[in-house]
Amino acid sequence: MFDINDIRSQFPILDRSVYNRPLVYLDNAATSQTPRRVVDAIEKSYFETKANVHRGVFSVSQEATELMEATRTRVQKYIGAESRDEIVFTRGTTEAINLVAASYGGTFFKDGDEVILTVMEHHANIVPWQLLQNRVKIVLRPVSINEKGELDIDEYKSFFNEKTRFVAVCHTSNVLGTINPVKELIEIAHGHNVPVLVDGAQAIPHTRIDVKDLDADFYTFSSHKMYGPTGVGVLYGKLKHLSAMPPYQGGGEMIDQVSFEKTTYAEPPLKFEAGTPDFVDIAAFSLALDFLDEVGVENIAAHEKELTEYATKRMIAEIPGIRLFGTAEKKCGVISFLLGHAHHYDTGMLLDKLGIAVRTGHHCAQPLMRYLGIEGTVRASFAVYNTIEEVDTFINALKRVNAMLNG
Ligand code: PLP
Repeated sequence: MFDINDIRSQFPILDRSVYNRPLVYLDNAATSQTPRRVVDAIEKSYFETKANVHRGVFSVSQEATELMEATRTRVQKYIGAESRDEIVFTRGTTEAINLVAASYGGTFFKDGDEVILTVMEHHANIVPWQLLQNRVKIVLRPVSINEKGELDIDEYKSFFNEKTRFVAVCHTSNVLGTINPVKELIEIAHGHNVPVLVDGAQAIPHTRIDVKDLDADFYTFSSHKMYGPTGVGVLYGKLKHLSAMPPYQGGGEMIDQVSFEKTTYAEPPLKFEAGTPDFVDIAAFSLALDFLDEVGVENIAAHEKELTEYATKRMIAEIPGIRLFGTAEKKCGVISFLLGHAHHYDTGMLLDKLGIAVRTGHHCAQPLMRYLGIEGTVRASFAVYNTIEEVDTFINALKRVNAMLNG
């Protein structure tokens, strides 16, 4: 499919070691590593085109603006949006969801309205709706999952009633790896005239997203999970929604005319981009999309699937007492587990001493942890540059750690 050595050579961090062992980086769901071309683009911006965007009449400012705005068009094409005005740059998925909750929810929801989400949501898709509850007494209705970690579609359908105002659901779970049937979920919601926000943070690094085909009202994601720079996220919103929504924050860039008596606002997307944007990183994000296109997200997904299936099979066969969380038929390259009753933190610490970076804890999904009756898990998550040999190193390390903690 692709030359893994060539891919790895583009990520200098993969050459480093930890405790004198080669780093095996398996925390890609938290953030993925960044290829050289993206970092080169950042350096080039700082050295050659750093000037504030949108305001300058001088050449360097115009060049910086063009680089940033070219990325907006690049993102529009990448996700199949109708218009580049539907692409709002944010700091990340978290800010994008906060924006929708505060602006859309704060304007169009009324007391007693219901918002459907799922028990597998990241805090980023729970807490913004709870903050909104300080302004409007909305009711959150989380949909349950089965023992494999798959959404209960019948329950989802049964939640719709005349009070249902909105659906906010993750495309892919960051803990269970479950890929939710978002197209179907959107179709059902639209059948009740209910708009849908999809939290795509965990899906878009390995899924071809076409927002028009999905018919999503809002779709959110973060560059840093897509081999891109930190500090950049995207809120896709249908123009009819973005046009009807009030600004989220006030300041420069988002205005039309300002006076002490009355201020009018810019049209979307600038209406939602108050202040100087992270124009350097936004411009470099384009290079991460080039990388994804060059390798092919379908190839990335296939590679990660192979690693996940291989690792899961070996874990079940070779690690006595292993407990896996999330075994959905459709899942991405995330494996959440516990070594018997050993604490996830101890497992993570010992794996680190063996050069292996995994995430431990509640993964910003405490309601899901409560639902599963656990405090946290250890999570290994794969990316395009991970290898079968790294999985072998991981499994061998896991065997040692298991013997230490449970032997
Ligand atoms: N939603 C999901 C499913 C996530 O996994 C994450 C990050 O882990 C987020 C939202 C928040 O993303 P960010 O921290 O980039 O805003």
